[in-house]
Amino acid sequence: MSDSSVLQSIRSEDPWQTHQVKISRIVDETPGVKTYDLEFASADLARAFQFSAGQFNMLYVPGVGESAISISGQSERGLLRHTIRSVGAVTGALDQGSVGMSLGLRGPFGSRWPLELLYRDSAVRWNVVIVAGGIGLAPLRSVVTSLMQHRDRVDRVDLLMGARTPSDLLYASQYPLWSDHGVNVQTTVDRADDAWRGHVGVVTLALDRLAIPAPESTLLMTCGPEVMMRYVVQVAIGRGIPVSNVYLALERNMNCAVGFCGHCQLGPQFICKDGAVFQYDRVAEFLRVPEL
Ligand SMILES: Cc1cc2nc3c(=O)[nH]c(=O)nc-3n(C[C@H](O)[C@H](O)[C@H](O)COP(=O)(O)OP(=O)(O)OC[C@H]3O[C@@H](n4cnc5c(N)ncnc54)[C@H](O)[C@@H]3O)c2cc1C
Repeated sequence: MSDSSVLQSIRSEDPWQTHQVKISRIVDETPGVKTYDLEFASADLARAFQFSAGQFNMLYVPGVGESAISISGQSERGLLRHTIRSVGAVTGALDQGSVGMSLGLRGPFGSRWPLELLYRDSAVRWNVVIVAGGIGLAPLRSVVTSLMQHRDRVDRVDLLMGARTPSDLLYASQYPLWSDHGVNVQTTVDRADDAWRGHVGVVTLALDRLAIPAPESTLLMTCGPEVMMRYVVQVAIGRGIPVSNVYLALERNMNCAVGFCGHCQLGPQFICKDGAVFQYDRVAEFLRVPEL
């Protein structure tokens, strides 16, 4: 039922062209994670820039460096959202940054989540399962937004969200709204605090518990730590979801974003231009190779 052509990359016209943007708004999400709304210096470019759910930009902090960051959505004013965890030089400089800071942006790059597959044939009704771990929900947030807008086109939508602690649950303030729009949100944490009344345990246990009434017409999308995704895929296939209906977003250190430098190569695939979203059966054999 699935078709890998729906993952075809959408390329920016000149991938080397860096556009000037400035930080227009910063929202503290969870400890160490913030969302940045970026505004293009050029109004024409702001109008022309288009992306699909799952794509990423290369964000350049002058004098520090460039990092791949997923586009996590768009504000009501059309500003591009990026949700970023501070882990090193570039992301740390952004963490220290403030509204008004100028950045460079190249993009959009990479493949997209297979939303067209869900919507293209109204006679086929899909169930959707989204499994996210920690900041892995960022590249999937546009999927949730799209499913809310096209809720009548799919049957069930389940979002299983796992985090280390309750305060690490990304976009938690949005979950009631998502639930009101027909997204069945279930959360679980590795370590509870005194106030937590929900599930404790890894997100794969939530997938084990989930009712999957029609596995053959269920599409699963997952993003999070690679070890989490490996277990998610195993459980999903064990629950009867066809391997070709399983999609995941991979992450590797990356430099050029256009398949020249080879930093993000996984076997014959380049994460930057063939991914970051992959149909699982296209990468399964390479994910089995340790350290690849
Ligand atoms: C397609 C794609 C989308 C991404 N989307 C997001 C996002 O939405 N939000 C977000 O916070 N991060 C995202 N990342 C990860 C982000 O690119 C890295 O965290 C960032 O480049 C680190 O840069 P730095 O200069 O801050 O850290 P550095 O100082 O370069 O590195 C800090 C440490 O992190 C390691 N590291 C750096 N990049 C990666 C990586 N890609 N994978 C694993 N380890 C890495 C380094 O080896 C080092 O140990 C994405 C990565 C890819 C490939």
